[in-house]
Amino acid sequence: MEKKSNIPTVSIVGRPNVGKSSLFNCLLGERRAVVVEQSGTTRDRVEAMVHMGKRAVKLVDTGGYLAEDSDEISMEVKEQIYGAMEEASIILMVTDSIDGVTPQDKEVAILLRKFSKNVMVVANKTDNEKLTNDSYEFYQLGFGDPEAVSCLHRKGIRKLKQHLLESVKELSPEASPEASRALKIAVVGRPNVGKSSFINNILDRKRVIVSEKPGTTRDSIDTYFSYEDDDYILIDTAGIRHKRKVKSVVDTFSMMRSREAIKRADVTVLLIDAKDGMTKDDVGILTFIDGEGKGCIIAVNKWDLADEVDDVTEEEYQKHLEYSTSQIAKYPLSFISAKTGKDVLGCLEMAKVLDTNLDLKVSTPFLNKIFERSDPGKVPVPRRKRRPNFLYIVQKGTRPLEFRYFVSDPKDVLPAHESFIENQLREHLPLSGIPTKISFAKSRKKKPF
Ligand code: GDP
Ligand code: GDP
Repeated sequence: MEKKSNIPTVSIVGRPNVGKSSLFNCLLGERRAVVVEQSGTTRDRVEAMVHMGKRAVKLVDTGGYLAEDSDEISMEVKEQIYGAMEEASIILMVTDSIDGVTPQDKEVAILLRKFSKNVMVVANKTDNEKLTNDSYEFYQLGFGDPEAVSCLHRKGIRKLKQHLLESVKELSPEASPEASRALKIAVVGRPNVGKSSFINNILDRKRVIVSEKPGTTRDSIDTYFSYEDDDYILIDTAGIRHKRKVKSVVDTFSMMRSREAIKRADVTVLLIDAKDGMTKDDVGILTFIDGEGKGCIIAVNKWDLADEVDDVTEEEYQKHLEYSTSQIAKYPLSFISAKTGKDVLGCLEMAKVLDTNLDLKVSTPFLNKIFERSDPGKVPVPRRKRRPNFLYIVQKGTRPLEFRYFVSDPKDVLPAHESFIENQLREHLPLSGIPTKISFAKSRKKKPF
């Protein structure tokens, strides 16, 4: 997707270990990933597009740097702040409620004030009531009311997003054209898994406003609607609402239509029937989605029945699914009931997160940091096979998300290398539900940065 330069940039800055990466992930809606576990790990910026209301915002995690014992902030933190200033429209200065205001925080604040940018103080790690009361001490940093959040418990994030959106609206009163595009969701799955029930459950909600535009009635292929300030298009598959008369014909037809729908979608919701688990047909659809590079959520439908009959927990069910179909682990699972409405809207929330992460851009230094600690070249290879030299990796593009690894000789790369690289990327980046492509190219040079 083409990026517009008038999209406001929100940069996250702060001294090391206050939770900048955690906040970045929280705002993206992703629990896992990107957070580097120990303090003192140099890393580079990571950025992602976030859709808030009808606006797109570029969120930048400026990175954390070597923690220092001294009260003064390090040169690296200063550089991080200067870097963020260049393009930031809004700065989120992250602090730590458990530590309170530290001399380093004060220094960061002094630096930030020099630039007269729009700064919001985020008091992270406000995990409980007492800390909430304490967080007011951050008022002394001089940037107004602190936003008390806990990334760990995902508390205060919604409010922070609201305030952020208000500031963004002040800066750019016009909604950006990119953000006002509707998110296209294809609802796919075998006949009878509950696709029409799922769609109807969404469209019947009071707060869901189905567009009155001509050609957007429920019988049409695409249904436009908005919910909580976001626009969506549900891409119907297979004329699912007039089916079941001539079953076998419909079945073949439905697969074809599903493919078309998936190709046009940003994100797909693959419904499976809780009592059947992942069938061969489901795996077939999933493989197709993966090949198209589309985001995918697996929704285990009819959970109301599974709950009653088998008394199985969601965790147990998930383990069982992952055991039978290993590729499931790549996707977010949602346990829903299109009949009762359980967690149906949660799928829309998840679809938004995936749509954002489909635009993830990771800098070359950050990518290579990941593999510095886990060299794919160390993956055991069978005897008599040559061990390739893995030189460096770059991101090739988004939608589909593609990476390219430069190696001594691509012919020596084995599937084991490829899956090792993919697993590492998934461990460090918010890629749940996002297919990735990894290609290999020849190079003799070491890292060019
Ligand atoms: P950064 O160096 O500023 O990017 O900080 P990180 O995001 O890597 O987080 C530093 C540490 O703080 C990690 O161990 C996190 O698990 C922890 N952390 C982040 N958010 C919270 C929170 O809300 N509460 C608590 N108690 N710990 C948190
Ligand atoms: P489609 O062919 O994928 O569009 O499936 P339908 O939406 O027509 O649903 C097939 C059947 O499953 C219907 O009888 C629905 O009432 C039923 N059904 C759909 N979702 C659920 C659910 O969450 N729980 C239960 N118990 N039944 C469901």
